[in-house]
Amino acid sequence: TRVLGIEGTAWAASAAVYDSGRDGVDSVFIETDAYEPDSGGIHPREAAEHMHDAIPRVVERALEHARETFDGPIDEPPVDAVAFSRGPGLGPCLRIVATAARALSQALDVSLVGVNHMVAHLEIGRHTSGFDSPVCLNASGANAHLLAYRNGRYRVLGETMDTGVGNAIDKFTRHVGWSHPGGPKVEAAAEDGGYVDLPYVVKGMDFSFSGIMSAAKQRYDNGVPVEDVCYSLQENVFAMLTEVSERALSLTGSDELVLGGGVGRNARLRDMLAVMCDQRGASFHAPDARFLGDNAGMIAVLGAKMYGAGDTLALADSRVDPNFRPDQVPVSWRDGEPE
Ligand code: ATP
Repeated sequence: TRVLGIEGTAWAASAAVYDSGRDGVDSVFIETDAYEPDSGGIHPREAAEHMHDAIPRVVERALEHARETFDGPIDEPPVDAVAFSRGPGLGPCLRIVATAARALSQALDVSLVGVNHMVAHLEIGRHTSGFDSPVCLNASGANAHLLAYRNGRYRVLGETMDTGVGNAIDKFTRHVGWSHPGGPKVEAAAEDGGYVDLPYVVKGMDFSFSGIMSAAKQRYDNGVPVEDVCYSLQENVFAMLTEVSERALSLTGSDELVLGGGVGRNARLRDMLAVMCDQRGASFHAPDARFLGDNAGMIAVLGAKMYGAGDTLALADSRVDPNFRPDQVPVSWRDGEPE
């Protein structure tokens, strides 16, 4: 199976080609053009303008790759389906991506597949780990939640009660005057920091970042060295995510954890999760960096699974959904797999 995936929920205009390969060796080609705000955070209108410019470019490059690597008959399309992110994300960006995907599937005369971006963050970890039924911690910009499969859907076991984890960190770095994205800068600064007290907010399976972020800004304004604030921010925020991940493993009885989302690039978060899993005899997997932040590779991979299950979209049903939740997706592609 060969699927062209298109992603553009927020900042990454990205297109990819997934090829399931002949001898069980698959490949993913990804072309991404990132929107980088000059100042401040992601501005929805500027992000949509970026999509408008960049999506045709990255799609053309992915198509070129698909044509170059296609060894089928010359009159056949070089992919079997076109998959796109339907949501969650910024409405104006999603609509540009969906328009491109519809046009391409019509032009190539192939199936259209609508992918939930958060389920794709999870499934790419399941795909690259080979784990059967893992719990997934999605730690991305606009989201933070724990998912596990039960009765045909990915259930949200716990989630942030306010902002996503990456956005929370980025708000602090904007306050400090650092450019977007802030996560990698906090990680670098934390190397030279020590601990100062910050709030730690876990309520059952849910958690909250807004109190910690306000306190972090206050500490910084009161003259606490920024390295110490960054260090403490990482320790508290990632310990919260680790605590809830452990509770999710315990609750589900699963012994597999996968990490998804751009904040998953953080080595301290990965370390904490690995230590926790190790101590309870569970396996931990974080996909390669190229699959962690937003990327069309994960859309193409899940698109191929959905296409294989016949889970395709009619044009008339292909509207985007900026608030698309993972538990709204009937999981068609795991039929016959154990729960
Ligand atoms: P979503 O996937 O929820 O729609 P998004 O598109 O903003 O959100 P991603 O691309 O998954 O999210 O992740 C981007 C976020 O990852 C940014 O907030 C960025 O600061 C954060 N990030 C990237 N690298 C690191 C790092 N090394 N440490 C911490 N955070 C990081």
